[in-house]
Amino acid sequence: MINNQQTTQQVIENSAKEPMKMLKFGKSSGFQMELTRRVNELIQTTGLRERDCPQMYIKAVILLLSFLIVYVSLVFLAKTWWVVLSLSILLGLVMAGIGFNIQHDGSHSAYSSYPWVNKLMAATLELIGFSSYYWLWGHTVLHHKYVNITGYDTDFDFGILTRKTPFQSWFAHHRWQHYYIWFLYGIDPIHWHFVSDFESFFTEKFYERHYPRPKGVNLTIFLLGKTIFFTLAFGIPLMFHSLWTVLACYLITSFTLGIVLNVVFLYAHEVEEATFPMPLKDTGMIENDWAIHQIETTVNFPCNPVLTWFLGGLNYQIEHHLFPNICHVNYPAISKVVEETCQEFGVKYKKHQSIWGGLKSHFRWMRQMGMVHTM
Ligand SMILES: [Zn+2]
Repeated sequence: MINNQQTTQQVIENSAKEPMKMLKFGKSSGFQMELTRRVNELIQTTGLRERDCPQMYIKAVILLLSFLIVYVSLVFLAKTWWVVLSLSILLGLVMAGIGFNIQHDGSHSAYSSYPWVNKLMAATLELIGFSSYYWLWGHTVLHHKYVNITGYDTDFDFGILTRKTPFQSWFAHHRWQHYYIWFLYGIDPIHWHFVSDFESFFTEKFYERHYPRPKGVNLTIFLLGKTIFFTLAFGIPLMFHSLWTVLACYLITSFTLGIVLNVVFLYAHEVEEATFPMPLKDTGMIENDWAIHQIETTVNFPCNPVLTWFLGGLNYQIEHHLFPNICHVNYPAISKVVEETCQEFGVKYKKHQSIWGGLKSHFRWMRQMGMVHTM
């Protein structure tokens, strides 16, 4: 799993002090070209729409309408504690659904061929309380381009609280991380709501690296987004309910959102089956070509059609990483071509046997990273 012997200390120093160095990948093996040709052929021969799929517009209406109905029911109609609890959890699930389906495709320009539609859909992330401006950099650029590369992919970065790759520093408390990590996943959105985005905004830094403050339209979306979120989360509910009730609902909803978002994303990358390559010491390059790197660092998992619908196709993460600009409703069809091509080229196409199997793999990986403190 470890592709070179760069030390933990070097990686930490590089990521903290140097400006972002764009990494290069190995020379194309021909695999990516053939895979792209076959997927294009599939799209042309079957009439699949790469973007602006009618299912996606229906999906957006269903999810946004669900958000409105659940929110109104929770704030204005719920009378008993168990209805409040159920609606708070349901609201967290609907918010996760908006993230998986609408904003995720929008931020990858996979929703529509019209940039303004993608921008609008990406901005639905503001409803969840996260900034679409910072998500674009952290997820769409850093995570996707440099998936599982320590110091570049910020998706698995919880600072010193966790050690998720062999190249992050080890601390004694990591011995228990496979137990307490679930709590961190739950409170993750609260950190985003109150700390991360504002910290990046005021310091002009994103995970220790310079990243400019939003300007123009992006600044308007950022400010409007934060205003709308805090009005929905606290402003309106506080006019009708006590502070403690509002805080309890906020915590339950955020915890549900955090667990669901983190668990779905970790299935793909933070498991025993994925690799965590680093740039080669002599050339500074990633050994594999870009497409093979994406496949070796990513794992799919099986789901029924209903769950696949809710997860925005994120159980097909290999296809998502190879073709992030294609709408996710096409992933099941594309996956057959990808798997066959991988077999022909001798590239290992990895899938968890079950949802439970993926979760256990993450647990074991976190336990392993918590125990190993030497390279
Ligand atoms: Zn993505």
